[in-house]
Amino acid sequence: MIVNNSLDEVKKRENALSIIKDWVMNKSRQSLYDLTGLSGGFIASPSEINLLETYVGPAIFEEELQKVGIEHMGGQKVLPLNRTSSGILATILTLVDENTNVVHYLAQLPAHPSIPRSCALVNANYSETDNFNEFSIPDNTSLVVITGSTMDHKVIDLDNFKKVIEMAHEKDIPVMVDDASGARLRTVVFNQPKACDLGADIAITSTDKLMPGPRGGLMAGRKELIDEIKVKVNQYGLEAQPPAVLAMLNGIKNFNGDNLIKSFSRKDELLDLLNENFTNFKATPTGVMITPKGLADEIDASHNLSDEDVAFVFSFILLKEHGIITIPAVSMPGASATIRFDLSTGDAFNLDLNDLNKKIVSSFNNLEKLVINEDECREIVFNF
Ligand SMILES: *Cc1c(COP(=O)(O)O)cnc(C)c1O
Repeated sequence: MIVNNSLDEVKKRENALSIIKDWVMNKSRQSLYDLTGLSGGFIASPSEINLLETYVGPAIFEEELQKVGIEHMGGQKVLPLNRTSSGILATILTLVDENTNVVHYLAQLPAHPSIPRSCALVNANYSETDNFNEFSIPDNTSLVVITGSTMDHKVIDLDNFKKVIEMAHEKDIPVMVDDASGARLRTVVFNQPKACDLGADIAITSTDKLMPGPRGGLMAGRKELIDEIKVKVNQYGLEAQPPAVLAMLNGIKNFNGDNLIKSFSRKDELLDLLNENFTNFKATPTGVMITPKGLADEIDASHNLSDEDVAFVFSFILLKEHGIITIPAVSMPGASATIRFDLSTGDAFNLDLNDLNKKIVSSFNNLEKLVINEDECREIVFNF
């Protein structure tokens, strides 16, 4: 086993960032391909940047974000946060008491780790299911959670979405929607309504997923709930700082759903190419993916790595040899190790899909050679 715990994940991320830095310094930013779907843009004009003072910044940009954010998310009020995870934590700190139940329905396990971790912090009983027929809301439930689109971009069925909200509201229990990528994927590609318009009390999106914004979270929902949560957010320092708020505002203003729709058709072309050599790649709404198990099953050589380790090593080969950034190399602890090639953000637009396919095949051939040598795998993941 190579990546065993959260500390290992922090270390592999540090190594990935240092590889990226060397690439940009020694080659160029243009020759890197960020296919994570998290573009982390920072759109801002010099005159806007001059207003980024501690109090002037929020005075100007938070006010405008109310209008633009509500248009994007629905609801009565929005609250900008450091990350989606911060919004999830703040909501759970505010609404969930010790020994109460939190139940979560999502289209496919697992949930984002920030949800179970936040529940553990307040000593709540957390359960999650992706089987709608098994989903129920027991007595003593303080919060119902729904994920709009999972970490691997599996989108919830709209009827199930509506039914879970209805079940919660029959019992007067608030609903929090983790709509990190879903706020755009569900609405633009699948024509689903905004979570708040479906009746969610709180919805949170990630402002760098499938849009040109910074890493950050944007919460929307019922005003009095947002106000309560905002108190916790400020008490624990979970709010977005002025530079992030400015970039969120401009990221949302520059969000263009056409790019998502274009990638929706291009992904089939890429999948056809990959299927000439592989059997386990699958389409996502805006690209292709292969799970750690699917990837490991493609390998003929015998080895001792876990499926996740195989995915981490593959992600590092793609990065080191071709400058292709995928999530496992750069992610935070606990994120999905699925390899996704997302075609919806900037670097993918000019990418020749034949060329990308060749790079993926060549990286895979190297992966097959590398997995039999655990020390070399460790070396590529951690650089020691
Ligand atoms: C990315 C993601 C999150 C967390 O977003 P952060 O900004 O990293 O905190 C939460 N839930 C889902 C479904 C995600 O895809």
